[in-house]
Amino acid sequence: GKSASQQEVIKLGADVTFPPFEMMKDGKVTGFDIDLIKAIAAQENLKIADPIQTMDFQGLIPAIQTGTIDVAVAGMTITSAREQQVNFSKPYYHSGLSILVKNDSTIKGLADLKGKTVAVKLGTTADIMLSKDQGIKIKRFNNIDDAYNELQNGGAQAVVFDNPVNLNYINTGHSNVKVVGSLLTGEDYGIAVTKQNSQLLQKINDGLDKLIANGQYEKIYRDYFKSDN
Ligand code: GLN
Repeated sequence: GKSASQQEVIKLGADVTFPPFEMMKDGKVTGFDIDLIKAIAAQENLKIADPIQTMDFQGLIPAIQTGTIDVAVAGMTITSAREQQVNFSKPYYHSGLSILVKNDSTIKGLADLKGKTVAVKLGTTADIMLSKDQGIKIKRFNNIDDAYNELQNGGAQAVVFDNPVNLNYINTGHSNVKVVGSLLTGEDYGIAVTKQNSQLLQKINDGLDKLIANGQYEKIYRDYFKSDN
């Protein structure tokens, strides 16, 4: 392998409003995706530039395209539209969208969202999906906490977002809300990598394979998720 001085340095970007995948804790960027990319970097002798650059979800793909960052971790769903703009690693987490409502809501599923106001995070798969539905009023926020607050203060009747993050919200002291209905989508998260460096994509995929094979992926998973969600 290369000596430490020859280590390839990668500029990493993250959206820190996606707990438990990315979040700020004690002034530090942390979460499942952060531990995963750090383990991949260690495995592949890559050095992550300090600091990790935090930005709105919406800003990550443009930042990769302009070279501000080389790699983004953001629980980013692999979609064909995004694949035109960035390379994606192999899927590393299977997810899907769910509907979060107040416990006393009559909303039971997607059909009930007609005529309602739904809060989403700007530019995410939930925003893209609901924007195709003419009968739903959408309020868009950069920070998912603002979307949850909108539900709490009655400005929206539901939040549609990635189910693990909705469950994390419930489990972090918000027992007055619940997930209803079945998952609206099946989605896979990938690590987004600049199209300018196919070798880097290869290393990230190799590292991911090794962490899955040697049990490290499983260990990191257990640090953040108690059971399957
Ligand atoms: N998985 C969703 C998407 O890719 C949301 C990601 C996020 O908010 N960080 O659109």
